[in-house]
Amino acid sequence: MERLRPYLHGRPKLLIVDDQPLNIRILHELFRAECDVFMATHGEQALSMSRELQPDLILLDVIMSDIDGHEVCRRLKADPETREIPVIFVTGKSHDDDETAGFELGAVDYIRKPFSAVVVRARVINHLKLKLQSDVLREMAMLDGLTGIPNRRSFDERFQSSRAHALREQRPLSLLMIDVDYFKKYNDLYGHLRGDQCLREVAQTLHANVRRPHDLVARFGGEEFAVLLPDADEAGALKVAEQLQDLIAQLDIEHNASDVSNRVSLSIGAATRLPSSTASLEQHLHWADEQLYRAKSEGRNRTCIETYAT
Ligand code: GH3
Ligand code: MG
Ligand code: MG
Repeated sequence: MERLRPYLHGRPKLLIVDDQPLNIRILHELFRAECDVFMATHGEQALSMSRELQPDLILLDVIMSDIDGHEVCRRLKADPETREIPVIFVTGKSHDDDETAGFELGAVDYIRKPFSAVVVRARVINHLKLKLQSDVLREMAMLDGLTGIPNRRSFDERFQSSRAHALREQRPLSLLMIDVDYFKKYNDLYGHLRGDQCLREVAQTLHANVRRPHDLVARFGGEEFAVLLPDADEAGALKVAEQLQDLIAQLDIEHNASDVSNRVSLSIGAATRLPSSTASLEQHLHWADEQLYRAKSEGRNRTCIETYAT
């Protein structure tokens, strides 16, 4: 599918839902060369496959034996996990009222049977393009423009879910607040462009070296970064913080205006919450800030860490 290529990570996933195997076969034939095509022959199956596969587009028959297409669409749109998946109704019903009902349920388009292969192809390709573009935009909205690592919005979302996980599973959760030392002086001495370059290198290094699947490094703002470490206790968090400080030291970025070293260095404030803690996100951030303030006032280029139980 030449025209879709710029937006693709892999092949687009198309789910075809129809209780007539013949219809499915025709549609499958039409798209199998460029899409991964999946098929469901009844409503419940369509719902479970949508959740599992996260298709890029669903072609949905209206009249089916168990739950009809309209009800399937209603349930897809009510579930946060499937809400964003575009739905096109494909149906033999041909009253304007049916068509309007489909749009009111949140469908993006409506194709009447019997259909023309050329028209179906054109419409499906159009909607796949739109879906893939909006995926790209959604992804970009979660990344920081300067450094390319997750941004504050990503952090806020992940912090919420990590906190919920920690409460539910009774696990510790650690947070590092990282701040580049004397960075204003770095800009003053070397200029903002080199300042930007330095932030990129620091960000990429942090990002590349925090590795567990649920860990997250984000640019919190300015020259500050935040690292979320689910399941990490104080000893684990301290180890990560010290490793990150070593890695930044190894970058060996000259900083002749720094009062603590002649290389770019970090101060880190870390706060570990015990599994029993029910503190709010704001409270946890405040703890990490408190530790960062301590690290700054005790001389910078160091980590201060504390475990909090409340
Ligand atoms: P401290 O050791 O106490 O952290 O001192 P500091 O100078 O690093 O802290 P301060 O908060 O006074 O200054 C932060 C500086 O970071 C000021 C600002 O110009 C710079 N900065 C923030 N965002 C960017 C950016 O995107 N690019 C560049 N080049 N500089 C930035
Ligand atoms: Mg700062
Ligand atoms: Mg700073």
